[in-house]
Amino acid sequence: MKIFSQDIVFGSANHELSLGETRENFSTHSKLNIVTTFGSNAQAEEFLTLLETSGLTGHGGAHFPVARKIRSAMQSPAGGTVVANAAEGEPGSAKDAALWQFRPHLVIDGLLIVAQLIQAKRLVIWIHNDERASHRSIVEAIKERELAGSPIHVEILTMPPRYISGENSSVIAGVRGEAIAPRYRLDKARPWGLGNPSILSHNSETLARIAMVRKYGVEAARSHLLTLLGLDRRTVTEAASSDTYGQVLSKTSGNPPTLFGGYGATWMPWDSIKNLQCDPATLRATGLSFGAGIIGVLPVGSCPIVETGRVLTWMAGQSARQCGPCFRGLADIAQRWNDFATKAISADDYHTMLIRIGLIPGRGGCAHPDGTIRLARSALTLFSDEVEKHLEGKCEYEHSLDFLPVPLEVATS
Ligand code: SF4
Repeated sequence: MKIFSQDIVFGSANHELSLGETRENFSTHSKLNIVTTFGSNAQAEEFLTLLETSGLTGHGGAHFPVARKIRSAMQSPAGGTVVANAAEGEPGSAKDAALWQFRPHLVIDGLLIVAQLIQAKRLVIWIHNDERASHRSIVEAIKERELAGSPIHVEILTMPPRYISGENSSVIAGVRGEAIAPRYRLDKARPWGLGNPSILSHNSETLARIAMVRKYGVEAARSHLLTLLGLDRRTVTEAASSDTYGQVLSKTSGNPPTLFGGYGATWMPWDSIKNLQCDPATLRATGLSFGAGIIGVLPVGSCPIVETGRVLTWMAGQSARQCGPCFRGLADIAQRWNDFATKAISADDYHTMLIRIGLIPGRGGCAHPDGTIRLARSALTLFSDEVEKHLEGKCEYEHSLDFLPVPLEVATS
């Protein structure tokens, strides 16, 4: 039971250019007749049990069980807020853009369903201010519902495009009118903002899946959006839980290094990925994370050390500057890594970089530095041959091809 009938292709650097689907307007969407209300508490309970049975987890990266998160918010008094988080922090990901540009009403139905369950009085769509095509589609969707006699009252809140502005506690702080930055919490995997009244934030795909489960049942939770990175494009595709990555990327040959999950995830050899199922729960059982669903097979001509350095630089620049190990530590590591990538690092500086890489995990207020260090460590492990060559001042890539999408203004600063 899939959301899209075909793949959607975006450019590598923005969400404006896309090929594939046509946008579903409200007239077409309403024929699905997805019921967003519940006639009684018993009906609401029945749906929550269905969500639990489906095993649906959040699609933002943390993969927290959705029904449990909603049930926690239901403990608070009515009158809270539900947020559709459309702030796609990962430059490699385009799945939120695909949803909002082509099936906005499905996400809105998910928002309405959750609002009903927790009896929220405020509905918010949280989106970066450079997501113009998605923003246009959202405004159009709200107008379409109004013209059809089914008005909804949703606030659209925009903010600058930063990696951490889509992080759960940043979203909730921003919705409260506070500074948009992560809040410190001991258990970084647990949702934040459940209180009195609750602010419940869900990723856009999570909301779309909630609406799909409402319409089609548990099977609808068993497919997942992936963004496949190419040199000049990002392709949003949908895989069933039973599909392997080898089936999704059937043209991949040899054993190329592959970025798996996102910029806070890992480099892995393709051979260790290709037989894995595209399923967050199965991956978790093997100690891996589905992450934001980004997969990037490194093309011939791109140096993995240079590519990792580009991402580390960008991730360091995305720190909310609240915690020293993140703000100063990541910047220092990124600087040393780039020296190393361009063959200008001394053995002492390289050694210092390794020590600092070992010191940072667990010392930030949020998981941002942990993810960044995870990527660096996986590169050091998988690319040990390239590391040796760089330390000897030899890189086989005279002009490394830029592959991983990194926003231009940061990449060149
Ligand atoms: S770890 Fe970094 S991004 Fe997270 S709260 Fe601290 S400074 Fe901000």
